Amino acid sequence: MLFSGTLAILSVEASSLLSASEGETITICPLCETKVANMRYHMGLHILRALNNIPEDINMKQLVSDVSLCGFCGHSGHPDCVITITIKNTATSNAPTQWNTKCVYQHGFHYSFAEQGSKHKPVHNVPLKCELCHPVLPPKPGKSSHRVPTVAINAIWRYNMVEHVLNDHEEYCVPGHRAGGVPMPLGVLKTMQLTELEQASANIPQEKWQLFSIPGDGHDKENMAPSTSHASKRSAPSITAPRASKKTRTNLANAHSAVSLCA
Ligand SMILES: [Zn+2]
Ligand SMILES: [Zn+2]
Ligand SMILES: [Zn+2]
Ligand SMILES: [Zn+2]
Repeated sequence: MLFSGTLAILSVEASSLLSASEGETITICPLCETKVANMRYHMGLHILRALNNIPEDINMKQLVSDVSLCGFCGHSGHPDCVITITIKNTATSNAPTQWNTKCVYQHGFHYSFAEQGSKHKPVHNVPLKCELCHPVLPPKPGKSSHRVPTVAINAIWRYNMVEHVLNDHEEYCVPGHRAGGVPMPLGVLKTMQLTELEQASANIPQEKWQLFSIPGDGHDKENMAPSTSHASKRSAPSITAPRASKKTRTNLANAHSAVSLCA
């Protein structure tokens, strides 16, 4: 991962406001050459399919590689695509107030909507703070108002978080990717979690969906994928496929389901 953990000074004129309106310009996708109104959303689906080896229905002019993928253009390792986020106080908060990249395919989007994912645009690939690179610290006793200067930190797109932890935080277990190691803090696990709806939107078959779920996460309720007759007719789910049906998933939706995969 590029430059993780380094700090950069915020460049005000180059940064994009998080509240900028979404998808106003039509752009040609650099990968499939389709006209696209919301590149972050469109590219998110390409990336999800690439990460899960799902073939595209359309002819791809360029294929998505599998490392450090820019959430706007899908390119890998392009210096212009480094993205930073500005957080008022990185020691106490994860919520960015601004993001900044030089990617030519960037466009404004409503961060908090995109971060949640919506029914119609479930892709919730947004630039995030990695809590392992930038831990949230409890305020020091008697120094609760300690001010940390506002700086931009290098951000990780959600869909790159698995790769980032695999490469840059080798001591942690990554459910479905690396057994053994220390269980990740729940906050970090959450940044990797995909909703059922976005996995369904990318045509990822249910048997390949993520195997972990996290308690107290509103995503699943709001973004429940429409159940297909295929899914409801499935035979009794086995313990090795905890997300094979909604019933099983709910039963396993506790901290253990994530942590036990790290045994
Ligand atoms: Zn495309
Ligand atoms: Zn690019
Ligand atoms: Zn880019
Ligand atoms: Zn990190």
